[in-house]
Amino acid sequence: MTATADIAVTGLAVMGRNLARNLARHGHVVGLHNRTKARTDELVAQFGSEGTFVAADSLADLVASLKRPRKVIIMVKAGAGTDAVIDELADLLEEGDIVVDGGNAHYADTRRREAALRERGLHFVGTGVSGGEEGALNGPSIMPGGTREAYSTLGPILESIAAVVDGTPCCVHVGADGAGHFVKMVHNGIEYADMQLIAEAYDLMRSLLGRTPAELAEVFQGWNEGDLESFLIEITAEVLATPDPRTGSGALVDVVLDQAEQKGTGRWTVQIALDLGTPVSGIAEAVFARSLSGHAEQRRAAAGVLPGPAGSVTVGEEFVEDVRRALYASKVVAYAQGFDMIRAGAAEYGWDIDLGAMATIWRGGCIIRARFLDRIREAYEKTPDLTSLLVDPYFASAVSEAQEAWRRVVATAAAAGVPAPGFASALAYYDGLRRDRLPASLVQGLRDLFGAHTYKRIDAEGTFHVDWSGDK
Ligand code: NAP
Repeated sequence: MTATADIAVTGLAVMGRNLARNLARHGHVVGLHNRTKARTDELVAQFGSEGTFVAADSLADLVASLKRPRKVIIMVKAGAGTDAVIDELADLLEEGDIVVDGGNAHYADTRRREAALRERGLHFVGTGVSGGEEGALNGPSIMPGGTREAYSTLGPILESIAAVVDGTPCCVHVGADGAGHFVKMVHNGIEYADMQLIAEAYDLMRSLLGRTPAELAEVFQGWNEGDLESFLIEITAEVLATPDPRTGSGALVDVVLDQAEQKGTGRWTVQIALDLGTPVSGIAEAVFARSLSGHAEQRRAAAGVLPGPAGSVTVGEEFVEDVRRALYASKVVAYAQGFDMIRAGAAEYGWDIDLGAMATIWRGGCIIRARFLDRIREAYEKTPDLTSLLVDPYFASAVSEAQEAWRRVVATAAAAGVPAPGFASALAYYDGLRRDRLPASLVQGLRDLFGAHTYKRIDAEGTFHVDWSGDK
């Protein structure tokens, strides 16, 4: 086989197929391979006219079809499948070739794989790809890790197929080894938090104002023209406006089983945040809210037993604007926590991650694309070592303008018995952050009393321990 392909994709399910088509549409000659050959044939039969494809029956043929340094994108089911493909490829490739994993791998696996391939003289680039199948075809947000050297060869190709906002491609070298997959993981965690907050806003307005889904679709449509403009708000309006296709009457959302599923990246974010000691409470609440929704038996048992508030709560039209403000403020907190986590990960693993650049590449292509990412980009460009996004002058003023409404919404939710864990925990985080003194001093006292864990004083250096119950 003559080496004519610029880049190859192995794993041609929805994501791989669309990435391959995107590459071909941008003039790259694309080698194609899939474990089950029928998928490759189907792609060529249906979309062969979109560009130049070179179909291969085996990974050996795929490797033979590639110009050097060879670049192979793996888009297979994350986990053991990825390892199997990497092992086979590594035996076929030569020094300087580049293996790209575009699946949703755990960054620790990516670090392990990168180290193993580096030993063999190969580059391994764990790459976050966001935007689902539509993004893969028309321009995703791409978050590649790996070496700068690999990026210098691979980057221009990835940048050519990424989404573009204000002339800037949504693709940048994130950092060494697993940095790209780490950032993609946090991106997904923020996505969980964002969706939970939107769901709470919907639930509060529905429960307390009695609006129909179609009426609320219009509210979200309106919100999409202001500060909250984002892909998720836009599709919320679409979901709420969709009638049930089976019965033709009522909203589809009303007959969808209310048990939210998860594939794992949100859970990973929280697990790693616990290890790093970063309080991503908004993401954690979102993951746990999905878990709670899935405990149908417990919910059924509790529904008949646990009472709600005695009186009813009435709110007026102004509640809609209050909820909008609470949503915006809570969303700022979720993003602030996510960016803190990226900074903590970078410090832990020695990655040189430009936080402003992360906000830049999330402005298009990905699920959390939103107008206010431009503001986040500006905040980190102005002050790269910003302590918290919440203290940036723009966000500090936006959140302080929203705070009275935010407090009313959280208080109203509690009084009415409508669960709003995302809004409430975001507000608690905000209040915790701005407090001069926290009751952690009491926690330290308790720890020292029962476990002699020692404490520090505000007025003297060193660590102390006393007999709390006896002579001081
Ligand atoms: P998928 O359903 O996750 O995986 C199916 C693909 O993996 C098929 O091509 C399958 O080959 C191949 N595969 C599975 N086990 C394999 C093995 N042991 N050896 C070789 N090939 C194997 O496909 P997807 O939804 O397109 O996702 C691909 C990757 O992108 C995943 O890691 C996913 O997490 C990630 N991702 C998905 C999305 C999304 O929105 N779907 C977004 C971002 C990232 P056969 O055809 O032979 O079965």
